[in-house]
Order: sequence, then structure tokens, then C-alpha cells
Amino acid sequence: MNHHTHRFRLRLHSLMAMVCAVYLLLLSGCHASPSRPLTDQTERMEDGINVLMLVNGSHALPEGYDITLTELANGQQIAALMREPLQAMFDDMRAAGIYPVVASGFRSPEKQQSLMDEKIAQLQANGQSYEAAVQEARTWVNPVGYSEHQSGLAVDINADGIHSTGQQVYQWLAEHAWEYGFILRYPKGKERITGTSHEPWHYRYVGVDAAREIHTLGVTLEEYLGQT
Ligand SMILES: [Zn+2]
Repeated sequence: MNHHTHRFRLRLHSLMAMVCAVYLLLLSGCHASPSRPLTDQTERMEDGINVLMLVNGSHALPEGYDITLTELANGQQIAALMREPLQAMFDDMRAAGIYPVVASGFRSPEKQQSLMDEKIAQLQANGQSYEAAVQEARTWVNPVGYSEHQSGLAVDINADGIHSTGQQVYQWLAEHAWEYGFILRYPKGKERITGTSHEPWHYRYVGVDAAREIHTLGVTLEEYLGQT
């Protein structure tokens, strides 16, 4: 090898090292604080299910996901593992004079698809083009595989419409649901992180320890898990 080639190779190596260093610097910059988990335990197993499982517009349910369900008196189904905490929460709400109902619990893929179709039709009926309706519908209803309701770990809680108003129910839940292991999944002002409009009725079971931390920190599940 002559001196000329040797020098050229050295220069090439240092150039490549520099490119790598810049690339790594940019990469670490992009993934700095916003995506650092706020917990050292991003998985919490209950009855063989990770109750911290993230399901949102970019995180689908795991392939072959299987959950043991239980049916409520009104016919709605929920994950069996959260029946007791949900019952305890509802008992305490009623003791406080507030009467909630589970308006929607577990949804099958077919049910999720029909909800999406209904929302699109409704928006089109309001004068939107099909394309615009599909786009807006996705901010209200998640596509099949991307809805927390398919996990069985989410519930929409509303008022019974006789003894209580929605506002009373949402207010009580916002203050106390964490004590039973449930979090407000789509808070106001966090729409860009969750990808979902504010839903004061949608609660997600994550277990008492995580719910306490998430509530105290005032964060979303995405932020808690470092998945923003
Ligand atoms: Zn919901």
C-alpha cells in the first residue's frame, strides 16, 4: 500500500467516525427526556395480563391477545381481573349518592368496526366529505386492534340518567377513580399525546400502585411509560 492510499483511508475513517458521532448525538437528542419512563416498572402483571399494556393509535393489542371476561348485570363485559375494584368503586359512589353505569366495556373487533362505521356515517350526514369524516372519526373512535375497549381493561362510565348527571359522575371519578386502580385515560390538554379527544367518561384499569403514581404526577399512560 503506498502512502497516498494510506492517508486517504485514514481520512475516510475519521470522516466516518465524525458522521457516526453526529448521528448518535442527534439520535440521543431526539429520544431524550420526553420518552423517558416515569416508572421503573413498565410492566405489572395481574392474572397473566400486563395491566400497563399500552393500546393507542400507534400501539395495537398484542397478536393473539386473550382476556378472561366477566359479564355485568347490564350485559356489558369487562376483564374479570378488574371486577372487584370496579364493584368497590361503584359501591362507594352510590354510598356518596352518585349513580354510575358502565355504558361500554369490552368490545369485540366486530363491535369496534361498527362503531367506526357509525361515526363516519354520522359525520358525513353532518355534511363532511368521506375523507374528512374518516379522518375526524379516528380522533373519536380507534380502528380495530387499536381500541383500549378491545383489551377489556377500559370502561366508559356514565350517569344512570335518573338520579345523577354525567357531570356528577365525571367529577367524582376524576377525584377518586385512582384509589381503585383506574385512571382518566384521555385528559383535557393531553390530546396531542394520547391522540384522543378529552373523554371524561373513559377510565382504564392499571392497578392501584400505577394509578396513584399517574394521578399524582398528572400524566398520561403514554408519558408514564415513556411512549410519547
Ligand atoms: Zn371509551
